[in-house]
Amino acid sequence: MVVVREVVYRALDEGRNKLLEHEAYEFLKVYELPVPKFGLATTKEEAAEIAEKIGYPVVLKIVSPDIVHKSDVGGVKVNISSEQEVRKWFEVIMSNVRSRAPAARVSGILVQEMVPQDLEVIVGATRDAVFGPVVMFGLGGIFVEVLRDVSIRITPITEYDAEEMLREIKAAQILQGYRGSPPRDRKAIVDIILKVGRLMEEVPEVTDVDLNPVMVFPEGMGAKIADARILVRRV
Ligand code: ADP
Ligand code: MG
Repeated sequence: MVVVREVVYRALDEGRNKLLEHEAYEFLKVYELPVPKFGLATTKEEAAEIAEKIGYPVVLKIVSPDIVHKSDVGGVKVNISSEQEVRKWFEVIMSNVRSRAPAARVSGILVQEMVPQDLEVIVGATRDAVFGPVVMFGLGGIFVEVLRDVSIRITPITEYDAEEMLREIKAAQILQGYRGSPPRDRKAIVDIILKVGRLMEEVPEVTDVDLNPVMVFPEGMGAKIADARILVRRV
């Protein structure tokens, strides 16, 4: 919990209400949420060293308090498989951001373990003025963004509630497996929902959590968070 307070108040003291992506991962690690290995680099030499430690393939992402959608400014490169490519893409991302978001402050580039592409789900949370913390679950992409196919619960959330959230969405069948697609690791999603619910209750400074996407692997193989946004306020 010391880490959580440190991360949250570092952001607030710097006048930010959004944790940087690597700060969000430090926070989520305290709750034993499944985050990819990562490190923040400010030079391409550093990026290459971190990539070496993590193991290839890796992902490079711009880290900036002023950029909300990193891909929109050419700030994300996935599936990088050599040191040479790390060095090259470090430069490309920096120059993309300089030209497409010239006013943005840049903290560095996040080097991250590449999470294998799989079924994408979203777990989010916010604070409702009336109900307090609520947790949301849905499938990634068009399911949430276009079809608004989500399930929602007020905290505290029990294991039974979380399982119900998985069954309740219209596209629930996709988690159970269909045609050639295997059943997914439902337990891993339930675990994420429960931990996010607990985090919202224990850390009143957090106003919003958005884990999008979370890759969910076949049954027994877990899940991993590929992008995380955490918003905070002073209480
Ligand atoms: P943003 O949403 O700000 O554009 P993301 O961090 O979500 O940036 O990255 C864009 C997309 O790249 C993600 O939706 C995901 O498909 C892919 N991606 C990002 N990070 C990883 C990762 N560590 N492993 C695999 N894919 C990733
Ligand atoms: Mg994203």
